[in-house]
Amino acid sequence: MSVYNQKIQLPILEKKRISLFIKREDLLHPIISGNKYRKLKYNLAEAEKQGHNTILTFGGAFSNHIAATACAGKEYGFETIGIVRGEELKESFLENPTLKLAHEHRMQFKFISRMDYRRKEDSGFLENLKHEYGRFYILPEGGTNQLAVKGCEEILFDSDSIFDFVCCAVGTGGTLSGIINSAENEQTVLGFSALKGDFLKEDIRKFALKKNWDLVSEYHFGGYAKVTSELIRFLNYFKERTNILLDPIYTGKMVYGILDMVGKDVFKPGTQILAIHTGGLQGIAGMNRKLEKKNKPLIVI
Ligand SMILES: *Cc1c(COP(=O)(O)O)cnc(C)c1O
Repeated sequence: MSVYNQKIQLPILEKKRISLFIKREDLLHPIISGNKYRKLKYNLAEAEKQGHNTILTFGGAFSNHIAATACAGKEYGFETIGIVRGEELKESFLENPTLKLAHEHRMQFKFISRMDYRRKEDSGFLENLKHEYGRFYILPEGGTNQLAVKGCEEILFDSDSIFDFVCCAVGTGGTLSGIINSAENEQTVLGFSALKGDFLKEDIRKFALKKNWDLVSEYHFGGYAKVTSELIRFLNYFKERTNILLDPIYTGKMVYGILDMVGKDVFKPGTQILAIHTGGLQGIAGMNRKLEKKNKPLIVI
């Protein structure tokens, strides 16, 4: 299905005379959805050019990037290896919806301790992996590198230059950097951080060529992959009103943040906002399992 900008109709937007559209990048592909598809595109082309038939990458147990890499590997004819944080998952990974999905797309796993995971970019660690697996094309955690940013520069169209603000959720900042690079100078790109901490700006400056951006860090809901009942209620309200399913880790927090800022008059009446739906919907099943165990309300699919 192709991507389009969907107009959002909600009382708060009408009251404050703000126009909000969501770019439905989540419709790009059922699993390699949104930005993970964009980030893989030129990397897979490069891997092929270099004559690789194996892609190796890193991630946590609920990683959208792990799921997307496994699926893209199968679709484009690469073997995939996932180095996953958490030794304890070795026995139980099929109970984890994300890892089960990746396994079904033939990803091979290596589960390592949190301590080893921190050393994953050391040359010694990588040498050992080469010894074990042979030749591979390596993708960093979250999939962010120069080629990933290049892919994300294709998210915005020329016709999107009518928007005053472009909003995007931020993990590593690769997607935001691509959007910054392709946005017009008159537009402001707002990144909504899914993590606690202030290190992201430095990371973004590595790839972003312009200064037309800012980072909003008030809507992480306690940190990466943390959720509250209020956030879950919001996701369900938004789905009911707009028929758009948001993910709890990235896009849900961003849209919550945008509407909260609208309520607080951060944007002038008449402002036009475009928010990017970067996908991530495969993560809902895993989140619902966690919520279910804690007897909390679930995300309605
Ligand atoms: C990975 C991801 C992001 C963050 O992308 P970065 O390029 O790492 O900043 C945002 N939204 C979704 C749904 C993601 O899966």
